[in-house]
Amino acid sequence: MQTKGWGVIGASTIARQYMIRAINAQPDSRVVAILSGSEQRARTLADEFDVPRTYVDLDAFLGDPDLDVVYVSSTNERHKAETIAAARAGRHVLCEKPLALNLADAQAMIRACQEADVVMGTNHHLRNAATHRQLRKMLKGGAIGKPLAARVFHAVSLPENLQTWRINNPEAGGGVILDITVHDTDTLRFILGEEVCEVTAMQAAQGMGTDGVEDAVMGVMRFESGLLAQFHDGFTIGHAGTGLEIHGIHGSLIAEDVMTQRPVGRVYLQSDDERFEFTPPKREDLYTRAVRHFNRAVDGDGTPSATAEDGLRSLAVALAVREAARTGRCTKVQYG
Ligand code: NDP
Repeated sequence: MQTKGWGVIGASTIARQYMIRAINAQPDSRVVAILSGSEQRARTLADEFDVPRTYVDLDAFLGDPDLDVVYVSSTNERHKAETIAAARAGRHVLCEKPLALNLADAQAMIRACQEADVVMGTNHHLRNAATHRQLRKMLKGGAIGKPLAARVFHAVSLPENLQTWRINNPEAGGGVILDITVHDTDTLRFILGEEVCEVTAMQAAQGMGTDGVEDAVMGVMRFESGLLAQFHDGFTIGHAGTGLEIHGIHGSLIAEDVMTQRPVGRVYLQSDDERFEFTPPKREDLYTRAVRHFNRAVDGDGTPSATAEDGLRSLAVALAVREAARTGRCTKVQYG
């Protein structure tokens, strides 16, 4: 088995809290380099995880001969240029969500990866959760009959250390819609196996968002089958907990504490007056599973757990939600 060298772009919180560990947890991959705009930030992160090299220049970083895969974890407005540069340098790319700030940029990134014949994936972690995989399996197996409605509860309290560009910088892709609604969309698409056609939404700034950046959104997505999905995403809700429900003709799937980065949560099947727990016994770190599947895709075995196309689709829905919230109009999702 050949070891893949991963390079991390961005001395980010997600890299430090989850992704570097997830890459180094694989028998066939290792983080070999970190790129940051600050030598000090890169060095601090590299020292924490024994990463051998740091860079402050993108070209020098991409010239590192041990680099096979690039993980793009910078702020959202940087994803496009960094992904395209990595692809042109022949590196596979796992890019954070949202892929970009608009659809044309995301399409250009995907095209660059296709032209360079490298694998591109989107780091939508939630579809790697055992709970969401269980929901998908039960739905497919007919546990609740035809699904009619879904509800996603994903309003949380944004930790203090993340109250930076997310709440005050629209140019960096701040705001709860590009941050969280993309995850709701990907998770629903994954579980339901269908696409969103149109959306309505209202947004608000309820104490955190400034400079026109929303920190709360509620809305409804209409799926191809006619299913309606209601969602609530927020940065200022400290005590609600998270969850996802799917309601069908013969029963409901209720999942609690599942819109999270950690491998936790419970899954129930409710029908008539009975509620049975179907929480999957086997749990795995979501990001570790994502990296394993990405490495396999690089080896020609399958696809990343969330592909570049999945990232494009979640972005398209989030952009439609933003448009709907700004105009007050029901908005059709434009995928291309
Ligand atoms: P951070 O705010 O922690 O880091 C983003 C960038 O900000 C870094 O690349 C870094 O730039 C810069 N930065 C970090 N600390 C400082 C500082 N003290 N002063 C100045 N600049 C600083 O971002 P997140 O980790 O929260 O998010 C990064 C990306 O990952 C985003 O695209 C986000 O949407 C995504 N994300 C995905 C998650 C998932 O589960 N899939 C979860 C969380 C985030 P530099 O490159 O110069 O070091």
